[in-house]
Amino acid sequence: MTLIDGKTVSRKVLEECRADIAAMKAQGVVPGLAVVIVGDNPASQAYVGSKVRTCADLGLFSRHIALPAATSQDDLLAVVADLNADPAVHGILVQSPPPPHIDEAAVVRAIRPDKDVDGFHPENVARLALEDPAAFVPCTPLGCQRLLIEYGIETAGARVVIVGRSMIVGKPLALLLMARGKGGDATVTVAHSRTRNLPAVCRDADILIAAIGRPEFVTADFVKDGAVVIDVGINRVTDPSAKNGYRIVGDVNFADVSPRCAAITPVPGGVGPMTIAMLISNTLKAARLQHGLAS
Ligand code: NDP
Repeated sequence: MTLIDGKTVSRKVLEECRADIAAMKAQGVVPGLAVVIVGDNPASQAYVGSKVRTCADLGLFSRHIALPAATSQDDLLAVVADLNADPAVHGILVQSPPPPHIDEAAVVRAIRPDKDVDGFHPENVARLALEDPAAFVPCTPLGCQRLLIEYGIETAGARVVIVGRSMIVGKPLALLLMARGKGGDATVTVAHSRTRNLPAVCRDADILIAAIGRPEFVTADFVKDGAVVIDVGINRVTDPSAKNGYRIVGDVNFADVSPRCAAITPVPGGVGPMTIAMLISNTLKAARLQHGLAS
């Protein structure tokens, strides 16, 4: 069984980004990412903190805009409009979830599509469906695809089952893996909470991807012998023996499933670290497109 090591692959992607940033700087372009956070959700603050630190480490220009939880929709839209107009900012990310009074879909639609490094704007969703290379693809699905490519796991002709149909993971990942070309050409099934006989559907998969949000939901009876399992889940479960009183587990019961697999991602250390690496990669793509630089 191969352990798919997202930490190592993400470091490789970030080192490639470091070299690309140096080359872009030599051409007079400093790629820039703006990260906007509204409110004080601790998990969101931790994610934003690590994004800003990664930017600093790589020599990327970054703007970290922390707004109070009571920020109005109009004020947030005004911040987005400023960032849309700022030539030093090539990528804009508004950390999810915002407070409940904010209409998140409207905020996403307000971001300039060519600065939408999260890939959530309807224009980028359409471009992904159209297999347009200029599409910004959501970072977590991109990270899953990159792990498969890096580990030489053939997707062409493979049966892939994705459990989860969210716009952040399941749906864009399905589009990405069924698109023509490297890391694509798969035969994709997307399952969800209304899927009948889910374990049997999953047992058909050469590559099973869990993006469910339910701790250790996928057990050995979901997995065909020799399958590849990608676990996107990040779930906190209470653990009195842990320092913080909780630990992080995936959507897959690793101990149960791993003996069956040809390869599997751990949680943590699998898909998680890839998401931020692909965000940086998307920011460089945005800077290149906006300055007409070759990739
Ligand atoms: P959502 O809650 O948006 O979507 C969950 C999906 O799982 C839905 O399509 C839902 O079906 C399906 N589902 C829920 N329960 C069942 C069930 N019993 N049987 C079958 N399908 C079910 O979650 P996200 O896509 O945002 O996130 C999924 C997981 O990935 C979470 O653990 C999240 O923390 C993690 N995540 C990790 C990231 C990373 O960087 N590694 C980034 C983003 C998310 P239905 O549509 O019918 O409700």
